[in-house]
Amino acid sequence: MLSKLFKSLNAKQNHGSDERQRRSATQDPLVSDPLLADLDMDGVAVLTRDQHCISRKNISPGALKVLYKLDSEGYQAFLVGGGVRDLLLGNRPKDFDIATDATPEQLRELFRNARIIGRRFKIVHIRFGREIIEATTFRAHHQPMEVTREKSRKALMNLDSAHSSSGMILRDNVYGDINEDALRRDFTVNALYYTIRNFLILDFSSGMDDIKQRRIRIIGDPTTRYKEDPVRMLRAIRFSAKLDFTIEENTREPINNLAEMLGSVAPARLFDETLKLLSNGHGVRTFELLTEFEVGKFLFPDTLTCMKRGDIPENKLVELALKNTDNRIAEGKSVTPAFLFAALLWPALRSRLDGSLAENQPSIQHLHQVADQIIGRQLHYTAIPRRFYLATKEIWELQLRLQRRNQRGVQTAYQHPRFRAGYDFLLLREESGEQLAGLGQWWTQFQLADTTVQANMIKALSSQQRSRRRPNRRRHRKVQ
Ligand code: ATP
Ligand code: MG
Repeated sequence: MLSKLFKSLNAKQNHGSDERQRRSATQDPLVSDPLLADLDMDGVAVLTRDQHCISRKNISPGALKVLYKLDSEGYQAFLVGGGVRDLLLGNRPKDFDIATDATPEQLRELFRNARIIGRRFKIVHIRFGREIIEATTFRAHHQPMEVTREKSRKALMNLDSAHSSSGMILRDNVYGDINEDALRRDFTVNALYYTIRNFLILDFSSGMDDIKQRRIRIIGDPTTRYKEDPVRMLRAIRFSAKLDFTIEENTREPINNLAEMLGSVAPARLFDETLKLLSNGHGVRTFELLTEFEVGKFLFPDTLTCMKRGDIPENKLVELALKNTDNRIAEGKSVTPAFLFAALLWPALRSRLDGSLAENQPSIQHLHQVADQIIGRQLHYTAIPRRFYLATKEIWELQLRLQRRNQRGVQTAYQHPRFRAGYDFLLLREESGEQLAGLGQWWTQFQLADTTVQANMIKALSSQQRSRRRPNRRRHRKVQ
């Protein structure tokens, strides 16, 4: 049906300015516009340029290139998802997603810089310098073809469509038209399609109304849609926190009960989702919602168990780290997954290192053993890539090294490639209420000082340490 829209648009495009004038002059462009009047637009609302605020100047040049190129080659192409949603809200989109009737292979032929990624759900990444445009072919609803556990991975690889016995989509590469595609999307606010043809927005599921009412509403039956892909529960939470939208009643209702389905999602995907959840600039609010909806315990169970112990410094540190991450993102600074996980897993590490790090000073070897156990458990939930968890361990190790300040130790810690992260972590520990006898301040001064002052600081420290030992010796002699 919408291919008709395209044909009509093609035929009328030379009269574009006349059309716009006529359309804005009418009360109801859907009824009176000859362009749309003959279309079978059941339930699809069409917003003309004068009815929405999206301007091409806010769309990235890369996304525009893809839209125009596909259009000129005779394909349908729409901006969809966060790009449209965020522009309508007056926000800057994180990225631009394009939906088209061109297949991944056709996209690869059209764009030299295109790469097909993903198996469960094929996406085409089209690169323009540092920007990546994600293009997807319209998805169709497909008859569930159930795949039992016994079915080999190899057999799955050759399928375009497959569900597990619990309803989870294992393969989603059956292509259809835009109407079908709209129903396969997660939330109504993510199913608004913008076209460069007369700059229309097509709204298939009252997404505009939900944007206005600031609410996240799932498309279709919530339980079925969460069972198809449990990550949609996390996405509902992410968008609610990021956009400050409420989660509509039916959309929120099944989440607590279905949360455990996250256990069947690949840990590598959950790692990516966890990062998106906690580094979207609204990590504090997201963490609250993850706890409230009981989905957090399928992402970082040890953290949440420890958090139940209440207002102790290591728990406070998690909150501070999330706040810190939100602030850094607001200032346009980068955040590293290594630091985030160092903070998230800190309560678990502390509880296993019996008592205060400051007093007990566990050996570095012991710290590594405990760290390996904690990280090993976490990897069952979120597959943190090795380069990140090694860095997490280094940040923890530096907590010991920054504490042991002798001549050689200070230089080794200071020259450590993770010094900055270790030092920032130390400051967070102090801010969280840990008593570290001015350690953070000492390191702040040390960094500001020149080499002579630095040498004096270390010397002063050694003599302090000596004088702390001396009275003991005297006392010892007296007793003799
Ligand atoms: P942002 O990019 O700001 O995180 P987004 O809505 O663009 O938000 P993407 O992950 O970029 O999210 O996905 C693009 C679009 O693809 C979504 O808006 C939605 O329409 C669709 N989509 C993504 N993931 C799913 C999913 N798990 N189930 C159904 N539709 C999805
Ligand atoms: Mg996006």
